[in-house]
Amino acid sequence: MEKNIKSELWDIAWCIQDIADGGWRKEHPPLPVEKVIYSEHSVTASDNGEEVSSRNSAHDISEGTVSVDIITSDILECKKCRLASGRIQAVPGIAIKGLPVLVVGEAPGADEDRMGEPFVGKAGKYLDKWLAAIGLERKKDVNILNVVKCRPPNNRDPLPDEIEACIPYLKAQISLLKPVVILTLGRFATSVLTGSEEGITKIRGKIYKYDGIPLVPTFHPSAVLRNQTLKRPVWEDLKLLKMILNKQLKG
Ligand code: SF4
Repeated sequence: MEKNIKSELWDIAWCIQDIADGGWRKEHPPLPVEKVIYSEHSVTASDNGEEVSSRNSAHDISEGTVSVDIITSDILECKKCRLASGRIQAVPGIAIKGLPVLVVGEAPGADEDRMGEPFVGKAGKYLDKWLAAIGLERKKDVNILNVVKCRPPNNRDPLPDEIEACIPYLKAQISLLKPVVILTLGRFATSVLTGSEEGITKIRGKIYKYDGIPLVPTFHPSAVLRNQTLKRPVWEDLKLLKMILNKQLKG
């Protein structure tokens, strides 16, 4: 199908959604990239751990020949950008197949760099409370990934070339994990997956789609720890996430 036809269908689908939501035309993200090219491998491995062969040539995830475990081990060894030199370890994330919810954050902080797991510090404990409030638990119902897998120095924002180097890992992980719904934490992760440049205050409260998967943006737990007035909108977003999850699992 030609891209412009797909684009038109994408717009029509959102138009129908807007009518169903009450008739107001809202802003929506652009048509997502349909295929993820994971360019690190030319492999013949599968999730049951069978053979892994040659590397370093472009490979199409949609052919089903790259596994979550291969991506994890690649991230652990990766030196594609300058962040490799300052890390204790890379943090591939929690990526367990079959879990319905995926949380996407920005980048590891000091605790995560030390422990090798995402969201293990104060913000992570707060995130666990949010999930528990809607009956969810990390590793049981929820995978957690970051846009960038290594800690930026002094917790600065990742730079565009670092994101460009790292983003194929996240895209490949999402393609393989196939979550039912995605929760993005903060402007940064939301912008990377929706393509929107809007601030998180403006962008939250709506449902987006990443590669056909419903995506709910909300504030980053660290921001809410600093500003408790954000608790109410976060609760609204969590309820929205739960509603989508229930609907998708029933449907
Ligand atoms: S941030 Fe990503 S691209 Fe950069 S070294 Fe770490 S894993 Fe590799």
